[in-house]
Amino acid sequence: MNILITGGNGYIGSHACLVLQQAGHGVVSLDNLSNSRADVAERVARISGRPLRLVEGDVRDRELLERVLRQEKIEAVFHFAGLKAVGESVSRPLRYYDCNVGGAVALCRAMAAAAVKVLVFSSSATVYGEPARMPVAEDCPLGEPTNPYGRSKLMIEQILADLSRADPSWRIARLRYFNPVGAHESGLIGEDPSGEPANLMPYVAQVAAGKRESLQVFGTDYPTADGTGVRDYIHVMDLVEGHLAALEYLRRHPGLLTVNLGTGRGLSVLEMAETFARVSGRPVPYRVTARRPGDVAACWADPALAQRLLGWRAQRSVEDMCRDTWRWVSGGVGGARE
Ligand code: NAD
Ligand code: UDP
Repeated sequence: MNILITGGNGYIGSHACLVLQQAGHGVVSLDNLSNSRADVAERVARISGRPLRLVEGDVRDRELLERVLRQEKIEAVFHFAGLKAVGESVSRPLRYYDCNVGGAVALCRAMAAAAVKVLVFSSSATVYGEPARMPVAEDCPLGEPTNPYGRSKLMIEQILADLSRADPSWRIARLRYFNPVGAHESGLIGEDPSGEPANLMPYVAQVAAGKRESLQVFGTDYPTADGTGVRDYIHVMDLVEGHLAALEYLRRHPGLLTVNLGTGRGLSVLEMAETFARVSGRPVPYRVTARRPGDVAACWADPALAQRLLGWRAQRSVEDMCRDTWRWVSGGVGGARE
């Protein structure tokens, strides 16, 4: 198939481009490079051995999208483009709703105009809010996300459900990611946060690399085994393989698919820091600080539905996640941006 990847130069999108190319699909990346670099497409091409076309542009530009969809004979779209910094979404809500919600609407309108009706969307476990039960299954009631970023994901999910109801010939997957981490094992692509990382794994990696003095552990008084927050970390390569499985499912089933992409295992902040130190052979000093506002104590997936419907489950271990992150960060490429 010919597939358009919006946000294809970003962290998850670049790994998706690679896996789709390796599965034999034709791939075009569309990215405005607001949070990524142009040379990512070249690095993906180096790994896959196939050229990757990058269209530099904004997902809100309907005319451009329609043109690309038609010219490239696109048959399916993976929609990763969007803004994802939770803290910034609180201070700049309009920017987030414009880019994320406005971007999704513009994309769907361009797809409808070009008669491309297969869409895989990056949603998030954040739509569950404070989960009502653990592990979190897809039929768990959706919560009230605690910030505009999370609300933008919930809004897009609802828009996609309305679209599917209005025109059942669409084939739409809403994939709820838990905590994507890690990098491709080549060390050539990975997560490239600008400035101070907001998420645990890139922060831990920078501490191990000596770029930051110590990790701040946000609270040790949660009702968890060691008192620190527990999350379901999933290797980015497992995650994008889940997208490939979702695409195969959509090819056989029209309608709306909603699945969690997680491992089903919860890991605490301290367990992650300890594993990273062991795998990298570098110390990860930490100090305990107050809880981060808006954080839930624990959140991990029930991945059974994805396994049943898609025949997919995460394969890689926490050690794999740390090892591949370390290779990316210590190998030069992933440590380059400040
Ligand atoms: P990322 O920032 O690395 O990638 C997003 C890409 O989209 C970037 O390359 C950026 O330049 C591009 N982009 C942003 N706005 C754009 C626009 N208007 N037009 C065109 N391109 C635009 O983020 P990521 O971690 O790869 O996340 C990809 C998607 O997955 C996002 O929608 C994010 O909300 C979602 N998601 C990510 C996580 C996570 O922890 N990384 C968790 C859940 C969901
Ligand atoms: N966390 C931390 N220090 C950091 C970043 C994160 O202790 O510098 C904790 C955070 O409180 C949470 C876990 O690590 O319990 C995962 O946080 P992250 O931001 O990576 O994911 P999210 O909270 O969005 O699931």
